[in-house]
Amino acid sequence: MKIVIADDLPASAADLLRAEGWTVDATPGRPVEQLKADLADADAIMVRSATKVTAELIEAAPKLRVIARAGTGVDNVDVKAASARGIVVMNAPGANSISVAELAVGQILCLARHLPGADAAMKQGKWEKKKFMGEEIRDKVLGLAGLGRIGQEVARRVAPFGMRVIAHDPFISAQVAEDLGVELVTLDELFARADYISLHMPSNASTKNLVNAERLAKAKKGIRIINTARGDLIDEGALADAIEAGQVAGAALDVFAKEPTVDQRLQMLPQVVASPHVAASTREAQELVGIETTTALRDCLRDGIIRNAVNFPSVSPEEYARMAPFIILAERLGAFLGQMTTDRIESLGVRYYGELASGKTDLIVSAVLVGLFRPILSTSVSAVNAKAVAQERGIEIIESQSSRPRNYTRLISVKLTTSKGEHWVEGAVFDKAAPRLVQVNGVPVDAALEGSLIVLANSDQPGVIGEVGTVLGRQGINIGTFALGRSGSEAVGVVSIDETKPVGESVLAELRALPAVRDARLVRV
Ligand code: NAD
Repeated sequence: MKIVIADDLPASAADLLRAEGWTVDATPGRPVEQLKADLADADAIMVRSATKVTAELIEAAPKLRVIARAGTGVDNVDVKAASARGIVVMNAPGANSISVAELAVGQILCLARHLPGADAAMKQGKWEKKKFMGEEIRDKVLGLAGLGRIGQEVARRVAPFGMRVIAHDPFISAQVAEDLGVELVTLDELFARADYISLHMPSNASTKNLVNAERLAKAKKGIRIINTARGDLIDEGALADAIEAGQVAGAALDVFAKEPTVDQRLQMLPQVVASPHVAASTREAQELVGIETTTALRDCLRDGIIRNAVNFPSVSPEEYARMAPFIILAERLGAFLGQMTTDRIESLGVRYYGELASGKTDLIVSAVLVGLFRPILSTSVSAVNAKAVAQERGIEIIESQSSRPRNYTRLISVKLTTSKGEHWVEGAVFDKAAPRLVQVNGVPVDAALEGSLIVLANSDQPGVIGEVGTVLGRQGINIGTFALGRSGSEAVGVVSIDETKPVGESVLAELRALPAVRDARLVRV
């Protein structure tokens, strides 16, 4: 067995692999041509972020079975090319959570006591005792935006200081928050009540510029902002304005919209404590990342156990091929349900009907979870880790099977129970055809489960299709198909649209304002 370590990793990583009697070629920073030659007979490659594992590099490694990335993001690995070759790509999620959480706590203390400013003044030979009057953090309210791995570690660490912790995270269970002694609140409440807000959510289309002029204006005067997550969560210009206006008392920032920073207005403000994305740069985090990755790599090569993989289902290629259409269906049903609600998810029920009940259903429930979580979480969720992620988040999974074929021979029924109620969908795959949606919240319907869909809940009365068509037409939105289903006086409409430009909230609001329409949501699958 030969493992190539291409970047700088702790010596303990190579030692653990050599202990198995394997050949380990650990040379950081070798030229690409050399790396290609060294990979010719390699079983695995281990990298940090410096080496780019491109399709070309993968092609030069015909025996390669595992790409191990010692870190969280796999942006430097061509996962698609690796997956096409059946190469497992694994990472080390969470190994640096404690380091990031500790920095966030340190930043809170720095902001409360103006330590960086006081130190800078001392270094200029000044003794400015009055200028650096601080405040205690005891009894202050810390608002966590995101209560995932890092957010939870921060909550645990500030509790002994006597801070009161509230959090906004629509996708974490009430039980997890309760166990931490954290009160879950809406985003508006978070801004209205917090003395400090610390960001711990992923960067995506819905969280970009989450901290903006409007929210800062509504916040408590004198609020302080801490960001160790991602720079684009903050509208940096708006934050600088709010600090200069005195609305925001200070900010501690480890991450920036552009790194290294180009616009340096924020970092130059005396109220801002800035650091160059070093939250995970600790000896322990680097060591732990190395150990976690190497252990997972060893278990995979030695015992075939796949852990922390971002791209690989644990089944034979033949079985995977047979299940593929249902995996796609399941993933889309999960994505569909995840976009139908922003309420706290408590449990997920997945029921298989007909011949599906005898298949490898484990893959299906994982696929539902992948669809549900992918837009929500910052780390990669795959078939391999989806159930573990659900468990971590306190979501109960109820699987059941029925050999009764119902109306379709292979049907998947998925029910999401949230803090406010239930959402239920069913889908089927007809021979070789694309997945279809066959039921929404108890109302039978038949619609292709693909692309951008506007899902309407309406009362069954004449004229609804025309009114919806008029609204969409006025907005220049082209309708592909319009599927309508009804049950009693209730009806569901599934409108597939050509989303040539993103459909905004105003369009949905206009649809909801129609007298017959109770709800309208945009779902992308
Ligand atoms: P995580 O996936 O464990 O947690 C993210 C949490 O955010 C989840 O609980 C999720 O439910 C929540 N969330 C998603 N969308 C949300 C929304 N719209 N509103 C509120 N909550 C939402 O991730 P993590 O490991 O805790 O990482 C948190 C952040 O820290 C990420 O942005 C990550 O990239 C960043 N990070 C930074 C560094 C660094 O060096 N500065 C190191 C590691 C991680």
